[in-house]
Amino acid sequence: MAFFRKPHHWPIVVIPLTLLLWARFGAPALGQASFDSLTEFDSPYLGALPAGGSGEAVARQVVIVVLDGLRLDVSQEMPTLNQMRALGADRVVQVGQPSLSKPGWTVIGAGAWQEQSGIASNFTDEAIALDTIFLAAKRKGLTTALVGVHGWRQLYAGGVDNDQTVLQTTLYADTDREGLLTGDRAVTSLALDALKTKPNLVVIHLLGPDTAAHRWGGVSEPYREIVQHADSQLARLLAAIDLNEAALFVTADHGHLDQGGHGGSEPVVLRVPLVGVGKGIKPGVYPDAYQADIAPTVAVLLGTSIPAHNQGEALLDQIDAPDALKAARAVDLAGQLGTRDEAMFRVIGDAREIDRETIRRAEEALNAQNYGEARELAGQSTAAVRAQWRRRGVAA
Ligand SMILES: [Zn+2]
Repeated sequence: MAFFRKPHHWPIVVIPLTLLLWARFGAPALGQASFDSLTEFDSPYLGALPAGGSGEAVARQVVIVVLDGLRLDVSQEMPTLNQMRALGADRVVQVGQPSLSKPGWTVIGAGAWQEQSGIASNFTDEAIALDTIFLAAKRKGLTTALVGVHGWRQLYAGGVDNDQTVLQTTLYADTDREGLLTGDRAVTSLALDALKTKPNLVVIHLLGPDTAAHRWGGVSEPYREIVQHADSQLARLLAAIDLNEAALFVTADHGHLDQGGHGGSEPVVLRVPLVGVGKGIKPGVYPDAYQADIAPTVAVLLGTSIPAHNQGEALLDQIDAPDALKAARAVDLAGQLGTRDEAMFRVIGDAREIDRETIRRAEEALNAQNYGEARELAGQSTAAVRAQWRRRGVAA
């Protein structure tokens, strides 16, 4: 055994053995722990916050169509969506991390990012523990409807008046081409029924594109076909919506890699369309925004309070409304972000108070009908709130 008697030979045995043991026991344990830290993430930022003021409605109805896993480039091949782009507001929004479905569905309705909602995976059955556009609508006495797969019901639970969600395994019993077409058609038919009761807020979700991209890839022919079919379903919806009183948005929860898949931070996964048309939407091509901006924008259109945990901006640039209304809502947004901001700082043990003076001056300007100044001051307050968080390396 001359080999083992030479001390410098030991590493040849010990290092591979250590690596093998690590591969067998250490790595899976670390992998599981890392995965659990994502899927079982408990947000420290929950807890009720006071609802801010509501405003005057810009549109009687807002309809949001979420096409699951719709890539921006492939969305540009959709004739009905392109028609909406030409007539309405066209922009790209960036989604948060992880770029998964349920986290995205939460951001769309709450305006709060994953680290605040705690909805950071698709493996949760829990309801969103934050304020949402559904709850804000309810506070104002508006009616709401939700159509799509059951996961949405789990998230929005008690906030929905007309719940038309169905078990995914029922809607999309087969995940072959025919099954996805049938599922998306069935959701659209349910949505058309729900629209007949004229709810003020309607969220409609089609799962077909996402399943197709997972199965065949994000640049595949079958994916393109399912997306084209989703576009024809969009045309059915559009025909049933009165754009003189309703604003219609089409967006996606996330995009897809060429080979299919999402969850990371690749631009093709992060950048999704937000196309709006109809009442209160000013046509144009707009700079990129964020997925968290959808909820406060919907709140402004419906005249509800801004969801209390919102982190987004109301996209006032694309809202067609009187200056007085826009200024009032900019001040509401500054107040909401400030109130949230104070609560969040309390969570991390920093009892600072926000600069209420700027908001007070914004309110004064609003009362004096100096709408430009009111928006300017509200914007300053909002920017100051965001800068504080950025200094701490936290998304704001
Ligand atoms: Zn997916």
